[in-house]
Amino acid sequence: MANDNNYKKSKIGDHALKPETMMMSYGYNPQLSEGSVKPPVFLTSTFAYQTPEEGEEFFDIMAGRKPAPAGSVGGLIYSRFNHPNVEIIEDRLSLFEGSECSVVCSSGMGAISAILLAYLRPSDVIVQSAPLYGGTETIIRKFLPQFDIKTAEFHDGLDESGMLASLRAAGEKGRVAMVFVESPANPTNSLVDLAALNRVLDIIEKEAGHRPISVCDNTLMGPVFQQVVPQGIDIAMYSLTKYVGGHSDLVAGAVCGSRDMLRPVRATRGTLGLNLDPHTSWMISRSLETLSIRMERAASSGHKVAQWLATNPYMPAKVLHPDFIQNERYQAVYKRQCSGPSSTFSFVLDVPKASAFRLINNLSIFKSAVSLGGSESLVCHPSSTTHSGVAADLRDKFGITHGLIRLSIGLEHPDDLIADLDHAFRATFK
Ligand SMILES: *Cc1c(COP(=O)(O)O)cnc(C)c1O
Repeated sequence: MANDNNYKKSKIGDHALKPETMMMSYGYNPQLSEGSVKPPVFLTSTFAYQTPEEGEEFFDIMAGRKPAPAGSVGGLIYSRFNHPNVEIIEDRLSLFEGSECSVVCSSGMGAISAILLAYLRPSDVIVQSAPLYGGTETIIRKFLPQFDIKTAEFHDGLDESGMLASLRAAGEKGRVAMVFVESPANPTNSLVDLAALNRVLDIIEKEAGHRPISVCDNTLMGPVFQQVVPQGIDIAMYSLTKYVGGHSDLVAGAVCGSRDMLRPVRATRGTLGLNLDPHTSWMISRSLETLSIRMERAASSGHKVAQWLATNPYMPAKVLHPDFIQNERYQAVYKRQCSGPSSTFSFVLDVPKASAFRLINNLSIFKSAVSLGGSESLVCHPSSTTHSGVAADLRDKFGITHGLIRLSIGLEHPDDLIADLDHAFRATFK
């Protein structure tokens, strides 16, 4: 006999189901929607309560006056707060990230805004790894200081004593409320040692009597090759626009963590109007079904392309792909924190900008565009586009030179991508 609870099933006997399996079913009960195997798009702004008593209870839960029943975030009220399509993808993304719950937002920047506005107050200090995604740099360095929130940074996420020194120095400026890191970071794939960061936060907590909240932007490798919440980071943040959406046809973001940690983030999302709409949520539920096979295929092709670049016969290239970065400390952290390399990486040629542009112009399969993680392969010249707003001395420090070119490897056949590169390198440098 059919079991009406199959849609919440995460085990068969003692066997725990994998996230890949649950992407097709978890959190959606077909019997509540005419047996429709796939969730309908719930195009409605508001939801009817069965009784006024129920309406009162839903508002008490939403406003935090009453705890939600176990395993729930409260009833459906109004689509700015919640709706079925967003709840389905929040449940499913949590399975992949290994977090208790998730809050999905209308963009990655919306997710970052909800986190920062939920947890930072005037006179607080936020410490960041550097460089971060350009939009994150703008909100931290330009927007937050207008509200008297101070900023500090560290540049080497593999240097534990350096991170501790930076956090102690930041504490001189005020209460350190948050540490925001991106690992791996774009475009160099530099890493932050998350276990070392946790140890540093333990020390700061003892010294300052308050533990800063840790946030990691997990867009590049997560949730398939890296889960940060199970590694002790309080909040994982995603631009779902990239690998999770995966087809360059939508913009969305997410925040993952414990129910308690996300309560103020969820409240901020509802207050500011940062929720994702039902249609885009539905597109993400479709994308999640193929996420792991897409990321695995892209990663495998990316490794082959990186291998070709590292040994290409035309021009020596330094390949900033995690599998090819020759640094013992980096490799130890990479193997501990990640189960694979993602497919976004850069290579550095010792050439002027004009030659880098000529190479890009000679490519025909790779499209010249910003963004990453889509089904199509992209090529990007960060120093003149995504990172053109970063001060030149900082760009030099991070190695974002005019000869650095970033690739996002998609789902084309890897042999064709290598043929495209081979042709472009030959035409440019022969
Ligand atoms: C794209 C991106 C963001 C911002 O996300 P949007 O969905 O564009 O708002 C944040 N962090 C990283 C690493 C990104 O690649």
